[in-house]
Amino acid sequence: MAEAENFKYKDPKQLLNTRIKDLMDRMTLEEKIGQMVQIDCTVASADVMKKYFIGSILSGGGHTPKQNATANEWVDFVNEFQKGALSTRLGIPMIYGIDAVHGHNNVYKATIFPHNVGLGATRDPQLVRRIGEATALEARATGIPYVFAPCIAVCRDPRWGRCYESYSEDHKIVQSMTELIPGLQGDLPANWSKGVPYVGGSKKVAACAKHFVGDGGTTKGINENNTVANRHQIYGIHMPAYYNSIIKGVATVMISYSSLNGHKMHANHDLVTGFLKNKLRFRGFTISDWEGIDRITSPPHANYTYSIEASVNAGLDMIMVPMNYTEFIDGLTSLVKKNAIPMSRIDDAVKRILRVKFVMGLFENPLADYSLADQIGSPEHRELAREAVRKSLVLLKNGKSSDKPILPLPKKAPKILVAGSHADNIGNQCGGWTITWQGQSGNNMTTGTTILNAIKNTVDKETVVEYKEQPTQDYVKSNGFSYAIVVVGEKPYAETDGDSLNLTLPAHGIETIKNVCGAVKCVVVLISGRPVVIQPFLHNIDGLVAAWLPGSEGTGVADVLFGDYGFTGKLSRTWFKTVHQLPMNVGDRHYDPLFPFGFGLTTAAGKAA
Ligand code: BGC
Repeated sequence: MAEAENFKYKDPKQLLNTRIKDLMDRMTLEEKIGQMVQIDCTVASADVMKKYFIGSILSGGGHTPKQNATANEWVDFVNEFQKGALSTRLGIPMIYGIDAVHGHNNVYKATIFPHNVGLGATRDPQLVRRIGEATALEARATGIPYVFAPCIAVCRDPRWGRCYESYSEDHKIVQSMTELIPGLQGDLPANWSKGVPYVGGSKKVAACAKHFVGDGGTTKGINENNTVANRHQIYGIHMPAYYNSIIKGVATVMISYSSLNGHKMHANHDLVTGFLKNKLRFRGFTISDWEGIDRITSPPHANYTYSIEASVNAGLDMIMVPMNYTEFIDGLTSLVKKNAIPMSRIDDAVKRILRVKFVMGLFENPLADYSLADQIGSPEHRELAREAVRKSLVLLKNGKSSDKPILPLPKKAPKILVAGSHADNIGNQCGGWTITWQGQSGNNMTTGTTILNAIKNTVDKETVVEYKEQPTQDYVKSNGFSYAIVVVGEKPYAETDGDSLNLTLPAHGIETIKNVCGAVKCVVVLISGRPVVIQPFLHNIDGLVAAWLPGSEGTGVADVLFGDYGFTGKLSRTWFKTVHQLPMNVGDRHYDPLFPFGFGLTTAAGKAA
């Protein structure tokens, strides 16, 4: 009791603001600045945590403790760092963050959900909320209480390599999908930030709305580049999903690498402090992007003192991976000592960080246990992912004109050909941000069901399913197939590596479509993070399905192809005829798409989707 009176911040019965004030009053400048630093797990250790009072660690870009670590190994690893933080004078817990952007995607055997572009096509925010709940459980199973999701970018140009992280080109769909936030965080009391303790406990995680703001509007979709936008475009297109996120209590907001009308967002005081914090009354903390403050100069890190001063004064609270964290700590300390950064700004940053840590229950339960390990890739979560896949599929063509529909396919057929680079490839199905940052092709990277295996499991026992990745036309003609399913698409990519000015399929994919569809009736299933060039081949194709990046549960694709469930998905993006039309978005004056926003044919369902 005496201790609780002396150390109010340790007493969970005290009001949140009382705890924060009590702790802040005890902290030195060094301890405060440490809270503002987030370092990557590859440079962290218990000693580093202790020596620099580091406030946060992340597994960025797919960095993990060891390859294919189990949930329990993750817990050990996170706890080890946490013990370093707890052994400091005041014992302030660190918060560990990770990019769980379509499920807990860095973790071997975790459930991989469809990427956001596919979830946008479901038009089902409650489904997205349930995905958030499942993701939170899988993240907590590895001891991680903080995820860098949702990405609420409104991608206005599919040439952007992050288009698949965006739910839609339409801000209203993106706004509705902020339901991921209560899924991840739980229903926070509306006034959580004012002192109501949060009881989400150890099954929820702090979310992060990113990337503030205008990340999806850059010219030609060039990643991290400049967005030219008028007031209507800023506040009416790119900003609205932040309004919803803040109402739903999002704990953190990540600032965008991109510039807005030539002004780097990481140095944008008017929007970060003036609008987000003051006008929208966001009470959580802002976090920079990875080396984001270094990149406000060209070349990056050219004038680091300026970078620190401009970004912290703009309103950045936590700095994700300063290129050199001891240089950051020294630089920030001297800027504060010479009053170039006011102490009130540091206090604001630290208060916000502590508030989230208290709210997440980290002071009461800083160390994770092993009790949730069986949540990783659980049957319930895989079933949820399968449902999401079914609902995300968009049927773009169903039979040539004057023909009868080709879908749904009969389960009983003499001989089916399955072809294409994406038919038997978990890595291609999952796309970027899966196990590694860029993702990788192949079947060894994690567990799941490929579309080929799902087809085999779905058809009648007597139906022969033959798989050939790249058949010649002669082969297709001479083997007596009744029809074929071609599964082709983009190879995995993330961020700048995915920027593409031509949006063409790889040459082997085009060849497979031509060889197969030129010889037998065919359904093409496209695996891609965005619309791609398809018009030149459309006349050859009998059935066309956009399956986006469906993730680990390929069975959801077979469920719908063979009619156990109907097609219900609707395009959350405009499908262009040629790239010369880009950018082209719903509502534009010269709107001449191949398939318009909202398009999606339906089929009768064996069961309700
Ligand atoms: C991305 C962020 C991500 C961060 C950490 C950055 O490159 O832009 O979206 O959260 O890396 O991995």
